[in-house]
Amino acid sequence: MINCIPTAQEQLKFLKNIQLILQSGSFSSTYKFALLISLSRLAIEKGEDSGEQLVLEYSDIAEKFIELYWKQAAPYNFNDTGQRILNQNNGKQAAIVNKVIELRQIYSSLGLLRRDVTIWSKLVKDVARTVKDMPVRYLQNMNGQNFEFLYLFDQSRKQLILLPQAMYCLRQFSEIIEELCQKRWIDYIRKNSTNAPVLNQLPNLEQFMFEPNRNQLNAVANVLVELQECKCFYCNKVMKKGSYAVDHFIPWSMYPSDTGHNFVLADSSCNSKKSNLLASDEFLHKWQERNEKQDMIIVDRISVLGFLTDKERSHKVAEWAYAQRKENNYLMWNG
Ligand SMILES: [Zn+2]
Repeated sequence: MINCIPTAQEQLKFLKNIQLILQSGSFSSTYKFALLISLSRLAIEKGEDSGEQLVLEYSDIAEKFIELYWKQAAPYNFNDTGQRILNQNNGKQAAIVNKVIELRQIYSSLGLLRRDVTIWSKLVKDVARTVKDMPVRYLQNMNGQNFEFLYLFDQSRKQLILLPQAMYCLRQFSEIIEELCQKRWIDYIRKNSTNAPVLNQLPNLEQFMFEPNRNQLNAVANVLVELQECKCFYCNKVMKKGSYAVDHFIPWSMYPSDTGHNFVLADSSCNSKKSNLLASDEFLHKWQERNEKQDMIIVDRISVLGFLTDKERSHKVAEWAYAQRKENNYLMWNG
């Protein structure tokens, strides 16, 4: 069978289907949002722009779930009433979130938890089982009907196989899918009445649920100041203390997940000019070279801060982003 790149019409149909399951699927928890986001990120990190099928390990999907929920399971402190955590389920707290909450009390960051290999592997295994039994089984089920356009669910299979063309479309529309899922996810949290007391204390729910944590980024800045000898990644000028910012080399607006190799340090001027544009090819090469040379240090020092550090994956994301730029004529920043 030849798996061709889907036609424009097939691609639109795919996007319609995504919207349809988000609109009409039954959602008893937030797992389905997490699943769609995970599939779209994995299609970028593990896939390519072809009409082929993509084989995914349940453990890879589980890791994405843990990352998403780790952030959202941060407890919110109240005056006297103790701590509250967002409820991600219609009834009692979702099982995966409970597991994450438990481990959050022992490990101060996801990076430290990952380093405890035995506990980490057990968590990934448990979460993978729940992912398979719940959201993967039900995502494409609408009003009792099966509506399989992403994958054919098969309980007996150890892996999840995306249908031909699904990988291509996920990569093509990932920015739209991320945004749709995040908006719906936030809505779900808002509408869940058990969350009412927490919501008053969280003026910016979107930031709390999805955006990078300031303190963590400050810690990244301290590492990068050393690596870059306090020079701006883009213009090479020496930076004054306090007048620099951590920049997502592949902009957050394109790929909203923090990975260690994606961070560079830029002076305020370059940072605000680059904003959410992709940098020119010259910088892409500089960034790739930096990652090759300083891979070990980045893995060692940034993973402790709680970020996934995987050079190959970061470079796959960049490959995707620059191909998207070419195809869609995105503006570029030349420094
Ligand atoms: Zn600069």
